[in-house]
Amino acid sequence: MCGVRKQIHLPVRVDNILVSSCLIGKKCSYDGNHRRNRWVLEFISGIKVIDVCPEMLGGLTSPRFRSEIKDGDGKAVLAGDAIVINERGEDVTSFFITGANEVLRIVKENGINCAILKARSPSCGKDKIYDGTFSGGLKKGDGVTAALLRLNGVTIYDEEEVEKFLRRKEVKDAQFQRLSENGAGNRED
Ligand code: SF4
Repeated sequence: MCGVRKQIHLPVRVDNILVSSCLIGKKCSYDGNHRRNRWVLEFISGIKVIDVCPEMLGGLTSPRFRSEIKDGDGKAVLAGDAIVINERGEDVTSFFITGANEVLRIVKENGINCAILKARSPSCGKDKIYDGTFSGGLKKGDGVTAALLRLNGVTIYDEEEVEKFLRRKEVKDAQFQRLSENGAGNRED
């Protein structure tokens, strides 16, 4: 995730955007629940979105056992240098790769070049993901789907970046509103 001062620039206008299904309220998370995010819903309001859950597209169910990438990141998984295990120690790599490829197919078919994906997930996470110890620790790297999309030129944001972007926009809009009101009050014509 970016440093606190980093400015996030989301596209002003997007026609077609990919979103993690759990962020818009679909119950596809490992615990059978969703991760609905009000900032993401606000950002995509009025935009055509295609939502995907790579892990379910790969053949897993919800609920399912939690999974994390062991000894590497999504890029290493795609290269065959790391695996994804679930909390029972089972190798579930093939589900993650199948899901990522399916998402890439959808992206290409729909001409998508921008995605908002769930932070820290072994599939959807960008920049930082759970570290493979199931202890809540994080490590650098993308999830498997995020890595594949990035390799194919898709720009990715997570919900935390969307929130920062919209909060900053709210402040700017409020400042603009105040300036407009003051300006209107001072006018003599
Ligand atoms: S983070 Fe990605 S893989 Fe996990 S539930 Fe959400 S959409 Fe599915």
